[in-house]
Amino acid sequence: MSEIETREISLADIENLALRVFTKHGCSADNAAALARTVTRAERDGSASHGLFRVPGYIASLASGKVKGEAVPKIEQSLASVISVDGDYGYAPLALETGLPVLARAASETGIAVMRIINSFHFAAMWPETEYLAEQGLAGLACTAFKPSVAPAGAKQAFFGTNPISFAWPRPGHIPIVFDMATSRLAKGDVQIAARDGHAVPPDTGLGPDGQPTNDPAEILKGVLLPFGGYKGSAIAMMVEFLAAGMTGDYFSYEAAVHDNNDGGPAKGGEFILAMSPQLIAGDGWQKHNEDFIQALSALDGIRLPGERRHKNRLDTGPRHINAALLDKINSLL
Ligand code: NDP
Repeated sequence: MSEIETREISLADIENLALRVFTKHGCSADNAAALARTVTRAERDGSASHGLFRVPGYIASLASGKVKGEAVPKIEQSLASVISVDGDYGYAPLALETGLPVLARAASETGIAVMRIINSFHFAAMWPETEYLAEQGLAGLACTAFKPSVAPAGAKQAFFGTNPISFAWPRPGHIPIVFDMATSRLAKGDVQIAARDGHAVPPDTGLGPDGQPTNDPAEILKGVLLPFGGYKGSAIAMMVEFLAAGMTGDYFSYEAAVHDNNDGGPAKGGEFILAMSPQLIAGDGWQKHNEDFIQALSALDGIRLPGERRHKNRLDTGPRHINAALLDKINSLL
């Protein structure tokens, strides 16, 4: 296999590059800054499939007019524990930055609160939203649907999105525990990167256009992805559809596909975020109770906690190694 050419680029330059390219393609200062922060956080934490890799897709949907670069999200708190953010047909990061502090305040006062984001386009990793809630002393759960790319267990046809789900648990004084995963065996971005870089993928990742299992990512991109864990992962992918679409009122993955213009960017959809206060629900002593559990879990041989890899990457403040062809592509958009 040939070496993939990469170039070193500092995190500050990654953020600046993203800011310039989003501004150039019609984003308001607020939207460009929120998007650039999202891209940079992904590169900082080693989420290569959701950092600069996503920039051409973000730009494609600005260029086609599907996504509004000047969107101004509007927030409404219809009940003490129900918050609604209308993303105004913009990208999710600004809608999230608008809504999350309000959600955190509501859950800290009432014990539990939900936020729905509608009319928005999510093309990023989901850990930032739940990590933010955990940093405010709250447990958080977030999910969003996409366009059909995953065959439900037993089927050979795409119907579910890759439907990520993220959960975070607060640990005052420690790094929160955060997991964030597609409910497909591999995230689609990772399959695209494997196809670009000529790597095989695990055999249960997807089916080729002939409906047969294959470890060739290019064939899977012409066929369908599979859910993780067979029918159990398929049930969780279905749950994400109910929460992200049924509970928000925005599109199910199959509906999103009907309305999308397939410009290479994300489809419109909803995001569901739940925030819960262990202090108000479990009461005093919750922290020690949970720390004891985490200590017992961590003491098992072979264990590493989810989120640890990302946090280790975060401690490295040095330059990141970015695919050279991708950098050339982004620079050509300036
Ligand atoms: P991974 O399979 O890489 O990781 C899933 C989770 O498992 C992470 O929290 C990871 O923690 C943890 N983990 C990995 N290995 C271990 C281990 N050995 N022990 C304990 N925990 C472990 O993620 P995916 O490929 O499924 O998803 C990648 C990204 O794609 C996600 O950020 C997701 O939000 C995003 N996505 C976004 C979509 C969208 O529409 N916006 C659609 C689909 C996916 P760690 O990070 O520390 O490795």
